[in-house]
Amino acid sequence: MTDAQSAETVAVASETPPPPAKTRVQAPGAVGVHISGVGCRATASISPDRVWVGSLMPGDVEPVVDSIIDAVLTVEPHPKFVVVGTPGHVNSELGTVTAAANLGHGWRGTVGLAELLRSRLGCEVELCNDAEAALEGERRRGALVACNDGALITLSHGVGVALLHDGIQQPTELGHSVSQFGGPECRGRPHRGCYESYLGGWALPLRYRERHPDFHGVMAREIPDDHEFWTECGRRLGDLVVGLCLLGQPLEAISFIGSVAQARHRYLLPGVRARVDEEAALLVTRPRSLRVTPLGDDVSVLGAFLMARDLLHPFLAA
Ligand SMILES: [Zn+2]
Repeated sequence: MTDAQSAETVAVASETPPPPAKTRVQAPGAVGVHISGVGCRATASISPDRVWVGSLMPGDVEPVVDSIIDAVLTVEPHPKFVVVGTPGHVNSELGTVTAAANLGHGWRGTVGLAELLRSRLGCEVELCNDAEAALEGERRRGALVACNDGALITLSHGVGVALLHDGIQQPTELGHSVSQFGGPECRGRPHRGCYESYLGGWALPLRYRERHPDFHGVMAREIPDDHEFWTECGRRLGDLVVGLCLLGQPLEAISFIGSVAQARHRYLLPGVRARVDEEAALLVTRPRSLRVTPLGDDVSVLGAFLMARDLLHPFLAA
């Protein structure tokens, strides 16, 4: 290399901009946790490759609390602020979770989870609903970045819908709105034919067996890549999306999360887009983006971490 080339190289290197601030931010002590019926995730970093993943045995309260404690101390030996995203109804002021049946029989009533964790970890602990944590993750680092008005649809064991209206989260129960009158029975709710009774992880094997009586699987992942079945599911999901677009709120983007969405989006999303195209004339605003989350299974734990980081280091919020 000549001196001139060397000088040029040095000049270029010195002009290279520093990495964006968010990749260099340190937030010691902040921990996000996400618990579900199948596992526990924890992280003390925004980097998805540093998320700790462990199992969680649904059942009594105590073993689940033990799993959360282990997860927190694994990712941060000196936690200062922990946010836990959990299924069930959360009262964040009281620090309680109610009817988190996915976590086992000990969770059907009300559990003072925040205080149980506080007393053992010796630090601040806050609870939030897992859908709330997911929307935070998606809004800050996922498919809803720079989106003021959007929606997050969860397709996993159940069907969840959360709206983002003018930057404010609005949880809804629209997964239980009626898709077809007189349709199949919902599970645990006194109605029939809701979206969850067609598209929930518990319902999909039942719907598939109605078409294929020789199918004996009980999990959505056991259903084969049957193009006709999944495309039909995609069109029904499209009905839900069209319904959201007709609520009167312009939706810039809709993001899909959850195990079913991630495993079958190649079949589901074309059906969704086709339904939106059919109804385009009716829609005030057509979502510019209909996509599955880029954050995968980590969307809720990353959202919980960002909430913990904001509470511990508000000056870092971004
Ligand atoms: Zn229902």
